[in-house]
Amino acid sequence: MPISSVNPGTGEVLQNFDSLDPQQLETKLARAAAAFCEHRATPFADRARKMMRAAEILESEKAAFARTMTLEMGKPIGAAISEAEKCARVCRYYAENAEQHLADEVVETNATESFVRYQPLGVVLAVMPWNFPFWQVFRFAAPALMAGNVGLLKHASNVPQCALAIEDIFRRAGFDDGVFQTLLTGSDAVQTILEDARVAAVTLTGSEPAGRSVAGIAGNQIKKTVLELGGSDPFIVMPSANLEEAVTTAVKARTINNGQSCIAAKRFIVHAEIYTRFETDFVAAMKQLRIGDPLDEKTEIGPLATEQILKDLEEQVNVSVARGAKLLTGGGRPALSGNLARGHFYEPTVLADIPRDAPASCDETFGPVASLFRVGNIDEAIELANATSFGLGSSAWTNDPAERARFINELEAGSVFINGMVASDPRLPFGGVKNSGYGRELSYFGIREFVNIKTIWIKAD
Ligand code: NAP
Repeated sequence: MPISSVNPGTGEVLQNFDSLDPQQLETKLARAAAAFCEHRATPFADRARKMMRAAEILESEKAAFARTMTLEMGKPIGAAISEAEKCARVCRYYAENAEQHLADEVVETNATESFVRYQPLGVVLAVMPWNFPFWQVFRFAAPALMAGNVGLLKHASNVPQCALAIEDIFRRAGFDDGVFQTLLTGSDAVQTILEDARVAAVTLTGSEPAGRSVAGIAGNQIKKTVLELGGSDPFIVMPSANLEEAVTTAVKARTINNGQSCIAAKRFIVHAEIYTRFETDFVAAMKQLRIGDPLDEKTEIGPLATEQILKDLEEQVNVSVARGAKLLTGGGRPALSGNLARGHFYEPTVLADIPRDAPASCDETFGPVASLFRVGNIDEAIELANATSFGLGSSAWTNDPAERARFINELEAGSVFINGMVASDPRLPFGGVKNSGYGRELSYFGIREFVNIKTIWIKAD
């Protein structure tokens, strides 16, 4: 089946690509295996020089890369430029820190000498999503390649131009051809690739069903896995918080990337004392967001990435309203003119009084749809925040030290941000618990996911 690059803002087909045939796939697997033998033996300094060069390419050509991202998946152009810059930062972070993160660690035992050595695993398959089409790939590739692994990218089928651009960046940065390769193929090929003996491990960022499927195959093959899956992050606001800042951040945290972020705040849990003010200000701010052409720098909300995502979101909102949720704003497709009339746009939407069994309460909503909840105290806030199968990020707003301590200890999530929105940072580990996945990316935890932690024990006479 051909792989199509489609502009979600207009519905226009930008380019079609042929999927890899079995012979082409075999060539790429053989090349990856051969490249690993060479790459694993290269010194850190050599890898670091190339990774720095990748950072330079990302920065100097960020406008072009950003345009490719925006045209293929619809994120506002300013955010796309920031994404290219952030990719450069993660390349630099691992170029500067990989050697230290993976240095031998001496451990005192009864041996003459004993230590831990970190060695690369081999060919790592990366199954990646379209929502941060550069960042998700670089946050895997920068540590993996610096550790001496080689990467095979199976990117989401709607972002083939981004996938090819990333392969090209690593090649131009000086990495050998087989060190990072893009496989233009649908998800049906993942099982065959993962079952190939030359593939050592897999990382998947994407939805829960995709994670279950890939982890099942990898488990059967006894291959290391990292899973970065969905989220339904809570954003809790308590009376001692700076309300104005909380509202401004809440709008940003919900609508970043047109609402299509795993760590977007999705459920706003607000203390009754301040609920009415929060609701009024939040709804007013959501109404003011500017929807339109994502290539226009003034646009705040672009299209959703595919028609299917738009339909799924519409259904989640409609079912939630049918089950009793109150629609405070939005809830439909905006009337846009010209080419944009055929784009996959959805209005910024706010729901309140949401029953627990409504999709907007318990499922991940991947678009600009916010769910508001009123709670009477911190116990209710924590109970509601944890009442989801996901556990990715969480944000809590309070200036009370006792409340802060409880949120840090009791929220079931891979991260707790106090008085700030959840965000990733190359220096901090990133990942989730529960159905949001396992393993960590970024920081020194991320670079140690795809290595053999080898114990060395020596007795000298
Ligand atoms: P998706 O449909 O799961 O796709 C992600 C990747 O998995 C794509 O490359 C897709 O390929 C592939 N895939 C889908 N089903 C598969 C299967 N059964 N076997 C093997 N591969 C499969 O997710 P998405 O819609 O692109 O991304 C949105 C989801 O990703 C959301 O749930 C979001 O929260 C999550 N996400 C999580 C993080 C995190 O760090 N935790 C970050 C970003 C996004 P095709 O495109 O060819 O189908």
